[in-house]
Amino acid sequence: MAQQNEPITVIGAGLAGSECAWQLARLGHRVVLREQKPEKKSPAHQLPGFAELVCSNSMRSDNPESAIGLLHAELRRVGSVILSAADLHRVPAGDALAVDREHFSAEVQQRLSTHPNITVVAGEVTEVPAGLVVFATGPLTSQALTDALAPHVGEKLYFYDAIAPIVADESIDHTIAFRQSRYGKGGGDDYLNLPLSRDEYARFVTELRTGAKVTPHAFEEPKYFEGCLPIEVMAERGEETLAFGPMKPVGLMDPRTRQQPYAVVQLRMEDRAGTAWNLVGFQTRLTWPEQKRIFALIPGLAKAEWVRMGQIHRNTFLDGPRLLARDFSLKNSERLFFAGQITGVEGYVESTACGYLTALAVHARLTGTAFAPPPGETALGALYRHVTGEAHPEGYRYQPTNVVFALFPPIVGRFKKAEKRVQYARRAVTHFDAWAPTAPHPVAPMPSPAPARAEA
Ligand SMILES: Cc1cc2nc3c(=O)[nH]c(=O)nc-3n(C[C@H](O)[C@H](O)[C@H](O)COP(=O)(O)OP(=O)(O)OC[C@H]3O[C@@H](n4cnc5c(N)ncnc54)[C@H](O)[C@@H]3O)c2cc1C
Repeated sequence: MAQQNEPITVIGAGLAGSECAWQLARLGHRVVLREQKPEKKSPAHQLPGFAELVCSNSMRSDNPESAIGLLHAELRRVGSVILSAADLHRVPAGDALAVDREHFSAEVQQRLSTHPNITVVAGEVTEVPAGLVVFATGPLTSQALTDALAPHVGEKLYFYDAIAPIVADESIDHTIAFRQSRYGKGGGDDYLNLPLSRDEYARFVTELRTGAKVTPHAFEEPKYFEGCLPIEVMAERGEETLAFGPMKPVGLMDPRTRQQPYAVVQLRMEDRAGTAWNLVGFQTRLTWPEQKRIFALIPGLAKAEWVRMGQIHRNTFLDGPRLLARDFSLKNSERLFFAGQITGVEGYVESTACGYLTALAVHARLTGTAFAPPPGETALGALYRHVTGEAHPEGYRYQPTNVVFALFPPIVGRFKKAEKRVQYARRAVTHFDAWAPTAPHPVAPMPSPAPARAEA
């Protein structure tokens, strides 16, 4: 393996930067990993360490017949440090891959810090360093570095996400809450459910609509990501929107009434011991006092103690297809590479995947070989198609996205929805297997048998 003279600088030890640094290091390259924490933290980051999951502790469905589950499987096969640490610190959450965020973060940090090819340097980066650089500074890239990047990227975009609150277990009324997963999926009782009657639901929706919200700065027009809408925005869209969205009661039965409730708030375990619970889908921009007042109306939360309140935040990302070359380096400054959410992917796992792809691209540059990412039929390749613009029609306005089958080349033929997912998943495995021998590192076989349940 040819060694470069100068180490590669990776800025940001979040999901993407950690994965990128790890993959480069295992390919034999020296890496300087620069992370502003623990000295400086964005408004959303709280932990001192690497790979922090800033909101939900879930990496979503682990079913390899969903696009995200397929991405999990592919990342496992390429030796992802993030997936490996997640598997090690998994907490029960039905079909989802959810983790104990503190142990997960500590695990990633420990593995990176002890790798002989990685040097960790703490402190905020405020200028563009010399040499080959990977920017993996995420949706909340510090202002000083954003300013330093401006001459190179010219323009950037932004939109808003909102994060969900976390409640302490001991403050929940467990005579009202009941443990159950929808349709008994996965572990069967991984979730805690708070049932609402029709009247309780109607009042809750009214309060959400009228409650005080945090006002964005005048120069920032809120542009929400559709998959992560604040609950009050959903409430404003229609009386029943929440009851058909995150508060849908289907597949659940309240053991006290032996009936399906009118609506439910579902809580997901934050840690293996179940001392804290995340309100699933309850991202919000309500002010903190309003959150406390309005969420106390939810049966079971009258005396809630909040471990963390919901928040609003900015998401900075580049117009990938316009600014980035096919190896994720800047078209006008080819020594500067980008990885993670800043390229316009959305989500923990997608950012991790992007970190992996960028590592492959940097490796190709350093070894003078062709950069050959997994083909578009795979989940990794589909994300690549998104960032490079290949997945999008002419005139598409670039927006961050999770991995979804819509990014894959379409499956030809008429299939029922569930069958189509199976087709996408099978085709992806075939193409991944064909690509595997060209990868610059060993690729593990696809584990079998795959679970049968499919989830969107
Ligand atoms: C508030 C919020 C809630 C979210 N909720 C979810 C969710 O529930 N589920 C989900 O899948 N995704 C969620 N996301 C998206 C999530 O952030 C990304 O999916 C993922 O964390 C992005 O990974 P990343 O590695 O690109 O960035 P990050 O994980 O944010 O990592 C970037 C790292 O760079 C560091 N950094 C920034 N600037 C500098 C600098 N100048 N010098 C040195 N270091 C720097 C930061 O400290 C950080 O450690 C949320 C994002 C935010 C902001």
